Amino acid sequence: MDYSSGKLFLFGALLVLAAATAEGLIRAYALRAPYDWRGYFASVGIFIGRRIIDTLPLGLAVSAYGWVWEHRLFTVPLASWWAIPLLFLGQEFCYYWMHRADHEIRWFWVNHSVHHSPDRINFSTAFRLGWTGQISGQMIFFLPLMWLGFAPQAVLAMFGLNLLYQFWIHAEWIPKLGPLEWILNTPSHHRVHHASNLEYLDANYGGVLIVFDRLFGTFIEEREDLPCRYGLVKPLRSFNPFVIAFHEWGNMIRDVIAAPTWHARLMHVIGRPGWRPDGQGETTADMRRRAAAAVTAQPVSA
Ligand SMILES: [Zn+2]
Ligand SMILES: [Zn+2]
Repeated sequence: MDYSSGKLFLFGALLVLAAATAEGLIRAYALRAPYDWRGYFASVGIFIGRRIIDTLPLGLAVSAYGWVWEHRLFTVPLASWWAIPLLFLGQEFCYYWMHRADHEIRWFWVNHSVHHSPDRINFSTAFRLGWTGQISGQMIFFLPLMWLGFAPQAVLAMFGLNLLYQFWIHAEWIPKLGPLEWILNTPSHHRVHHASNLEYLDANYGGVLIVFDRLFGTFIEEREDLPCRYGLVKPLRSFNPFVIAFHEWGNMIRDVIAAPTWHARLMHVIGRPGWRPDGQGETTADMRRRAAAAVTAQPVSA
């Protein structure tokens, strides 16, 4: 079975590329505002590399889809009126947990960190996606939908539409959008998601909807008094697609080799990004604990 939604992907890619290029040209030449062209070309390079890698049969995902589909519980009739809304909601739910795992489990983060590497965000950030998704296997989060009886092609097409939706939320210049902010993932919510300020880390994982973040306690509102600082906690200064695609793999492998025990080796892979054996690492919780301690330790002036 062919699970690639090739035409949809090509259409989406061309649309986003055109929008990103138009955004850059308008900002740079019509508005005479700064635009991160080096980041733009790095993202284009990463996008081309990903298309090449996606043609390689690296993933176990396709055989997993087939196996799960063969052993499905039900068969959802996609023509029925309720099937597509239910697939949309189910896909959003699975995407929320996949994206949360991307940030909370280092094995998935090494691939996803590529998307968070630019220190400015614009439409081109939307197609800066990691090269090693087939190896990290993040698509397992969608298997429950196939097991429940949604055809793999339908699940993947809905996922493709979700990613296509997300291109326009990568914008620094689109303001808050009133009541839409309550239910949709918007540029404002996604700016917070891309911010590395301690106050904003690990938030707003939704795809099209923001409701699962509100439900599961990961929603953080963008504040006027706290401008987003984009990029990784430890900024990556490179614009070389190969460095961007593999630097976190290098960091993880180095940590595993240097680890003193097997428990530490395992935690460097399945623990939170930034975990260290001595508890002095750079997980979000570690950094927030240190920041809180620093505030308490401030001498109170009389
Ligand atoms: Zn993310
Ligand atoms: Zn993003």
